[in-house]
Amino acid sequence: MANLDELLRAREPLLWLNDDLRSVRTSKSSELGLKDVRIAEARLKRFAPLLCRLFPELASSNGIIESALLPAPRLQATMMPGPDAGRWLIKADHALPVAGSVKARGGIYEVLVHAEDLAMRSGLLEAHADLLSLASPSAKALFGRHEIAVGSTGNLGLSIGVVAAALGFQATVHMSSDAKEWKKARLRARGVRVIQHEGDFGAAVAKGREEARSHEHAYFIDDEDSRHLFLGYSVAALRLHQQLCALGVTAGAENPLFVYLPCGVGGAPGGITFGLRHLYGDHVHCFFAEPVASPCMLVRLAYDRFMSVTEIGLDNVTEADGLAVGRASEFVAPLMRSLVSGVFTVPDKQLFEDLYRVEQTEGICIEPSAAAGFRGPQWLLQTRAGRDYLVKHDLAGKLRNATHILWTTGGLLVPSAEYQQFHERGRLALGPSGTEEKRAPR
Ligand SMILES: *Cc1c(COP(=O)(O)O)cnc(C)c1O
Repeated sequence: MANLDELLRAREPLLWLNDDLRSVRTSKSSELGLKDVRIAEARLKRFAPLLCRLFPELASSNGIIESALLPAPRLQATMMPGPDAGRWLIKADHALPVAGSVKARGGIYEVLVHAEDLAMRSGLLEAHADLLSLASPSAKALFGRHEIAVGSTGNLGLSIGVVAAALGFQATVHMSSDAKEWKKARLRARGVRVIQHEGDFGAAVAKGREEARSHEHAYFIDDEDSRHLFLGYSVAALRLHQQLCALGVTAGAENPLFVYLPCGVGGAPGGITFGLRHLYGDHVHCFFAEPVASPCMLVRLAYDRFMSVTEIGLDNVTEADGLAVGRASEFVAPLMRSLVSGVFTVPDKQLFEDLYRVEQTEGICIEPSAAAGFRGPQWLLQTRAGRDYLVKHDLAGKLRNATHILWTTGGLLVPSAEYQQFHERGRLALGPSGTEEKRAPR
């Protein structure tokens, strides 16, 4: 067996298991805990009428930005027939309104928190006042003198740019070289200033951070280091819990819950994992999925130091633009040390195959990044490393009662011509019959 370094460099898909996984401790009051997740959730409830006012598409959900939890029986039957597959569900963040991706919860949360803060400090808003006043002409005039900036590979920019512009802020999005044209065009159409940078995500964030520092009235949302983003994302765990209850799904010693999350810088999957592990303890098993070209969280945790994937000879170039990140968040990675079960890697070809599969079987259209988690159950049940994990945690005999959640993180806003190309690549990748590849699982 080659060592981890060589496998990563050769872009061999692999499952890395986290030996530092531990039970969730009851944290000291100074540390982040479930209380902070609940506070963020309560805050989003207070913002709901304002969001409803700003985005008419939220009328049906009363201003709550949430996605459905969908059964996926046909996808499951295609990818893993047999009773040991348990039950597969899709957490459908690909359809999240307003921003069209998992970034909706975190990005919009941080913009709203900042807007409220600014309004309070300038005396426009009194404590416990109606937050609808943040949509008033005087609030708009105030926000118009301030800037909100962010560095992004695309989706975080879409989320933050759209809500910042709706509130009347000057919004600036620093895009990395992998950002898709349509995402930039969409933002510009809403009056957002889009600055295209040569480098990757890390470079775009650094440029944005630097520029914002020189503007007196600028607030930079730092995807490499943001507690607000993290907590906004974490609220998904509470909502998922309610949805699972509604379906009669519980998690316990005899019926484990597995969750597969596409990972970029780590904020979204990290926040969700943080919330779920605090809610379900040792009965939930969260795995991250990263492109073979960008396994930044994997190397950060496996080598236990702040590092970029370029240090092991990878180029961070992938069609999964939402996951094209070379260095994990130094805020999130240490928090994941004891909480995440493992990380597996995905070649781009598999992203397109699985994007096509979920369309053919469940009629769901997603973007490539959002397909990264789909091989999770196969990694766990059909590989040596996965079986080791199941045995170690006494799960091997409990698979029939297990629930697997595939988190589809983006796709709603993808233009149809763009989607058609993804579809075509998936169809070709799967071969003429559109059936399973012959290659045996590793
Ligand atoms: C950003 C993003 C992710 C991952 O979130 P991070 O906070 O960067 O880890 C996953 N999927 C999609 C579609 C994204 O845009």
